[in-house]
Amino acid sequence: MALTFPPRELYYNGQTHPASSGKTFQTINPATATPLADIQIASHADIDAAIAAGERAFPAWSQTPAIARARILHKAASLLRERNDEIARVETLDSGKAFTETSTVDVVTGADVLEYYANFIGGGGLNGETTQLREDAWVYTKKAALGVCAGIGAWNYPIQIALWKSAACLAAGNTMVYKPSEFTPLHAQTLAQIYTEAGLPAGVFNVVNGAGDVGAYLTSHPSIAKVSFTGQVSTGQKVAGSAAGNMKYVTMELGGKSPLIICPDADLESAVDGAMMANFYSTGQVCTNGTRVFVPRSLKTPFEKRLLEKIPFIRAGPLFDDQTNFGPLSSKVHQEKVLSYIRHGIESDKATLLCGGTGKPDVPKDLLDGFWVKPTIFTDCTDDMRIVKEEIFGPVMSILYYDTVDEAVQRANATELGLAAGVFTKDLNQAHRVIDQLQAGITWVNTWGESPAEMAVGGWKKSGLGVENGRRGIEAWVQNKSTLVDMCGSVATVFAKL
Ligand code: NDP
Repeated sequence: MALTFPPRELYYNGQTHPASSGKTFQTINPATATPLADIQIASHADIDAAIAAGERAFPAWSQTPAIARARILHKAASLLRERNDEIARVETLDSGKAFTETSTVDVVTGADVLEYYANFIGGGGLNGETTQLREDAWVYTKKAALGVCAGIGAWNYPIQIALWKSAACLAAGNTMVYKPSEFTPLHAQTLAQIYTEAGLPAGVFNVVNGAGDVGAYLTSHPSIAKVSFTGQVSTGQKVAGSAAGNMKYVTMELGGKSPLIICPDADLESAVDGAMMANFYSTGQVCTNGTRVFVPRSLKTPFEKRLLEKIPFIRAGPLFDDQTNFGPLSSKVHQEKVLSYIRHGIESDKATLLCGGTGKPDVPKDLLDGFWVKPTIFTDCTDDMRIVKEEIFGPVMSILYYDTVDEAVQRANATELGLAAGVFTKDLNQAHRVIDQLQAGITWVNTWGESPAEMAVGGWKKSGLGVENGRRGIEAWVQNKSTLVDMCGSVATVFAKL
């Protein structure tokens, strides 16, 4: 049977190359469980070749004036915007996310970051500092690019992750070898081709395909200067461990089990909307999801009532239908993982199932083989339940009741993870006091989930290392050189006389 898309090869040195391994895997449409394309798997020799292309391109690219690099990145951002719907269509088929989402978020927020960093470097954002020490001496600093960097992507925001990594990396003058997740690889070659069309020199952005072993070989390669990784905590720990041994720079964007605290004075309607967005957007496959929803005991009845009234607004269905805002999970294995957590919540944790469960949402017959899971809410949860402690990464909300805000904050922080957190309250002082106490790198007040290019994002504790985006995000892609210049004409030496 002919597949929807032609096979994907590897991309390095400015063009596609067939993989030398002779091996392929298939990427699957999660809505129908049907294969979309054969993806060629990179051998070690192919990964070496992609890294070598990055090494050859590095000297010229890192020396290209920032304004000239900016022009190319601007052009790539406009090509992405021109082809928004075409790229979003592929992302929907590959990831199972509704087109209403991929066409308004995935490409857009990726292109925004590219444009942000193009503006930033074009406007002198990578300039160093000068410090006058004395009349005839000063120190200047320079931000130097690192070299060939590895980008490893997760499957939940494929092209957005590729852009969040490559935008800052390339803007800073580095070159990159990028490996997409094997579950959502289709965007990578398209992005590489767009960069080339925008004028990016051959070898600056390269793509290799494969599973974890390809990622492991790439990230531990001695010629890789930095690893930027997005994925699970357990994988991140392995990757960061091997990088540390070789003194590579790392950025780790890992998982979370983030708390959302609704204060007693919160606007109920906003709080319910926030909790819905923090759990069901993207079918719950968002790293920053607020899956532990802390609600004052006094609000139990109205909160649950309003939540249940809004559940029908979650519309599973054909992914290109304008009405659909909820897709399947991204793969069969992930569907099984999420269902096993729901089962555990019912049978072992014995949480109260408010809605959802292990069945499938109502979808047309031709979608019944897809990897669907119902939006699920557990209530009366306790902190020791497995569904409350572990990241599920699906549409599963746990409601936890509390008596005082201080107690909620303390329980919210009782986790090894610290990616995101948020609070809903009308009291400005309370909002800032709670946010100040929450142990997380990304926080929101009276909203949830927005992550604009200007906002540096990254986790605390085991949720990550470093940040992406914003002014701070690009600092992770450069190394500092400090130079002291002395013009006094003689060296202050202690060895001038006996
Ligand atoms: P994984 O950790 O399973 O995989 C992430 C990437 O790492 C994939 O490309 C994977 O390849 C690759 N990989 C697997 N093993 C290795 C290895 N030993 N060395 C190098 N690379 C390897 O994560 P998921 O894809 O399941 O993504 C979901 C996770 O990502 C969730 O925990 C989520 O919270 C987190 N995430 C964090 C974000 C953040 O910004 N903090 C944003 C988005 C997601 P392959 O899949 O092909 O095997």
